[in-house]
Amino acid sequence: MTTSDEGDSESQSVRRDFGALWHPFTQMSEWSREDPLVIERGEGNALIDDQGRRYLDGVSSLWCNVHGHRHPKIDAAIRAQLDRVAHTTMLGLTHPGAAELAERLVGVAPNGLTRVFYSDAGATAVEIALKQAFQYFALRGETNRSRFVSLADAYHGDTIGAMSVGYSEAYHRHHRPLLFDTIRTTPPHVFRWERGLDPRAALQVAIDEARRTFEVHGDEVAALIVEPLVQGAAGIWPHPPEYLAELARLAKEAGALLICDEVATGFGRTGTMFACEQAGVEPDLMCLGKGLTGGYLPLAATLATEAIFEAFVAPYEELATFFHGHTFTGNPLGCAAALASLDVFDDEQTMAHVAEIVPLLHGRLDADVASLPQVGDVRRVGLMVGVELVQDRETRAHYEPALRVGYRASLAARKHGVIIRPLGDTVVLMPPLSITKDEIGQLVDATIAGIREVTGA
Ligand SMILES: *Cc1c(COP(=O)(O)O)cnc(C)c1O
Repeated sequence: MTTSDEGDSESQSVRRDFGALWHPFTQMSEWSREDPLVIERGEGNALIDDQGRRYLDGVSSLWCNVHGHRHPKIDAAIRAQLDRVAHTTMLGLTHPGAAELAERLVGVAPNGLTRVFYSDAGATAVEIALKQAFQYFALRGETNRSRFVSLADAYHGDTIGAMSVGYSEAYHRHHRPLLFDTIRTTPPHVFRWERGLDPRAALQVAIDEARRTFEVHGDEVAALIVEPLVQGAAGIWPHPPEYLAELARLAKEAGALLICDEVATGFGRTGTMFACEQAGVEPDLMCLGKGLTGGYLPLAATLATEAIFEAFVAPYEELATFFHGHTFTGNPLGCAAALASLDVFDDEQTMAHVAEIVPLLHGRLDADVASLPQVGDVRRVGLMVGVELVQDRETRAHYEPALRVGYRASLAARKHGVIIRPLGDTVVLMPPLSITKDEIGQLVDATIAGIREVTGA
């Protein structure tokens, strides 16, 4: 193929995109003014565009890639499965991959989680957890337990139920009348950041509020749902493990279930296999997605305790069955990828590698990013990082949203060979667990360059 042909095919992809596509979370009037990158290939921690330019995948292809792209073991496992069957249903049939993966997930999950219900996206894993919690109490005759508690600024996905336990002024404004009413409690970071409390005081205020929430509503709560340790889409907002432990304790004391949404935090992203481990918390339900297949394919899972599972086990005519299932639930190619990803965790001692690189990443952030004049806050847990840009460090005054500084800083970082995507004015870094020491340097350097360019520092 000649160079000019490649040029033509590139503009053809963009032409087709502009003519027929509607992108997620994207204002299409802006998109059509852009010069979009057309990603053709991946290789390790890099993405390669149709011009042959390489970029470090600084947000793990939206928080899901774990061991890099085109990992030979995961690729081979998917190919081998493709030679057997691509898809077969979990409704009334089973297959070896789904069964083995369920056993392996129960093996790595926190204690007490013994049953795996598959689906195909983080949002569906959350819907399933909510419906299982609700039906669990209905089946026990505790119909008063019909409500959910969630954290202010939570994000649990974009379907109606997941949105109802989430909260975003901007994302939800046109659908609010469709959402069910959820009880909110405020995590410590809000008090620290918006009311200027120190971390200890903020923690105490947040715990007091959670305690009052359960005092008032305890009897009507089916479950508390939480993104353990880090509220991702809110802007990478961490809370201390003590807060998570206290939430778990309050839910249990009130007789409510605890749902940990580990869709973003699961599979090593926070420095442990699952974030809730760091608080010694054992959820009743746990949602997995994103990194489950190493970030290769759409597969998700909701894990439940045996006590929850058993409440649904009854003669058919009692209609205790969990009547829920998505067509591609437990897809065999996804299961093959997930099994291979778990093997890679063992073979390559991925968590030992993470333990080595996290201090390096945090060290560079503290030394070189936190000190930039327009950086208001550097938040990080493991490989989840948010760098919040502010107009004024002292007052924490935000930039005008129309200035799009986070977005422009991320675009500027591209010129330095790194793909990142912000949340508002928070520049997010979330590299694959397989990122090397050199690549950490490249990621941080490009981020600094991008921030400097748009803030004029
Ligand atoms: C991304 C995310 C979801 C939604 O997952 P999808 O696969 O996009 O539906 C749910 N919860 C959390 C915490 C997430 O970060």
